[in-house]
Order: sequence, then C-alpha cells, then structure tokens
Amino acid sequence: MKVDFHFHLEEGPYSFKWLQRTASSIANVTGCEERKHSLSWVTTQVERLQKRLTEGCFSEQWIETYMTAGLQRGIERFGIVDHLYRFDEFQTYYERYMTLDNSELGRLQRYWLEQVRIGSIEDYLSAVRRTQKKGYPISLGVEADFFPGGEAELKVLLDQYELDYVIGSVHFIDGWGFDNPELQHLFGQKNLLELYAYGFEHVKQAARSGLFDIIAHLDNLKVFNYRPDEVNMLELYDDVAKTLKESDIASEINTGLAYRYPVKEMCPSPAFLNKLYEHGVPITFGSDSHFPDDIGMMLEEAAQLARDTGYKEIVYFENRNRIYTDF
Ligand SMILES: [Zn+2]
Ligand SMILES: [Zn+2]
Repeated sequence: MKVDFHFHLEEGPYSFKWLQRTASSIANVTGCEERKHSLSWVTTQVERLQKRLTEGCFSEQWIETYMTAGLQRGIERFGIVDHLYRFDEFQTYYERYMTLDNSELGRLQRYWLEQVRIGSIEDYLSAVRRTQKKGYPISLGVEADFFPGGEAELKVLLDQYELDYVIGSVHFIDGWGFDNPELQHLFGQKNLLELYAYGFEHVKQAARSGLFDIIAHLDNLKVFNYRPDEVNMLELYDDVAKTLKESDIASEINTGLAYRYPVKEMCPSPAFLNKLYEHGVPITFGSDSHFPDDIGMMLEEAAQLARDTGYKEIVYFENRNRIYTDF
C-alpha cells in the first residue's frame, strides 16, 4: 500500500512568498485552459487564490485538493497532521517552553509564534472529519512538539481529542527552534557532536513519554548541513533505535528535508535507517508536504531505501492502533 502519513494543510508565516507558493500549488494540481502567463491566465490564478483564502485551509475543498493529487499519484492511505503551535488551545504550552524573552532569539521566535498561530484546533479537526466522512482514506493526526518536562501538560491537552495518531517531534532544543532558517547561525556556536547527542536525548525522552505513535524525522538537526561525521554518530543512532524499540514506537522516512532544505537528504539517513531496521523499529512514510502539489514527494525513493535496507512492511494508524501493510 502506498502511504503518505505526514503532511500538513498550511503553515505560516503568511508572506508574499507564501501567497505565491499557495497560488503555484493550486496551479500545479489544477491545470488551466488559458495560455500560461497571459492576462486571462493570471486572472484565473488570482480568482483561485482568492477562493482558497476565503474558504481557508480547514475546508473540505482544500483537503480534497490534496486527496485528488495524492490519489493520482497512487497514494492509498493518507495521514494529515497539523502543527499544534497553530492552535490557540496550545498557546500556553508553547509559551512555557519556547524561548520568547527579549534576547534576539526570543524576539524572533515570539514574532514567529504570533504569525503562525491562527485559531482553534476544532476547525482543523472538524474539516478533516467531514472529509473522512466522504470516504477518503484519511487518518487524522497532529504533530506535537516535545519539550522535556512538558509531558504531563501535553498529555492533558492531547487527551481532549479523538485522534487516529500523534506524531512527536523535536524541533526545539532548550527553547530554540533549530529548523527556523532565520536562526540557523546559532548552529555555528555549538559543538555539533554534543548538540546531536543532546538532541537525541530529547528524541529518546519523547519516545519513552508514551504520548506518541510515531517519532518524526529523527535526525532533522542536519537541516542546514551542520552535522558531525556520521562515523562518530553510529553509536548514538544505535542507542536511539534501541530506545524506540523498547518504547514500542514507530518512526518514519520523512522526505521533507530532501526536497526543500539545504541538506537534501531524507530523515533518517541511510545509516540511521539501518540501525532502526536492525532493532526492528517499524516505520511509515511521509512527504511532510505543506502544499498539495508536494504530496507523495520522493516517496518512491523512500520506499526503495526501505526495501534496500530490508524492510518488508510499513505501518499506519487508525484510532491509535498500529496497522502493518506491505508497500
Ligand atoms: Zn516536523
Ligand atoms: Zn511535519
């Protein structure tokens, strides 16, 4: 079964770049009768963009744009997640654990958090559920940020919602959102091997927390190409894989970094995936798409990598139950 079990409906900040990317994604999946770059063509694009903005990302129409594109690409099982920092219900959680003080980091992140938070999670949940009811094979999930010490608070928050699955992600280390391009210079101030070891401790704690079904993009610290020699990380990989297995939790091959970030490599790296396989950690596949035209992106390559590593099965989730399937 072809599965894309990690993609998003939208994410700010809402820049002109975002507008352009949204418009081009609609054009890429919809096609157009008019001659490209003619006045009538651009008028049609603007009308579509306007319609999309009016309906919002939490609409059946927008979700079906992903479904149509995905089904055309042969995807048979979809997993939609959205970032919890987009929702009012989780504002306090993020404010507690992100650095939001008056330092340069704090000010940038405070500005970012205000830009990306857009409203209630209920709008998201109800839109996905309405689309599920139309018969699309969708699992409803969220991508939750893990902060050491925040487990109890996150559990109370998540327990309120009926979800098919929860992805746990480490995007923050000591309050620093390390995948924010505006903050990447901070990598230059770190001992990379120590940073990775510390980051993997977060991953292990997230796995042990029991809050998540999948731990996402295990080595996303490499996003901007700041990475130690992998030879020095094999033991760390092994340790993470062992912990994931002991915690009975799945991971994923996430292609997001391979097609939209400087490192141009999937998560985890082939060497890391090999460790997951050796320890018997189940995996799923995710494009981490934030636009409908990226759905399924590079998942053929991900499947090939999984087969080459030895994997015969992947997993997906329904009602928090893990289901195994071939791929
Ligand atoms: Zn993520
Ligand atoms: Zn994601």
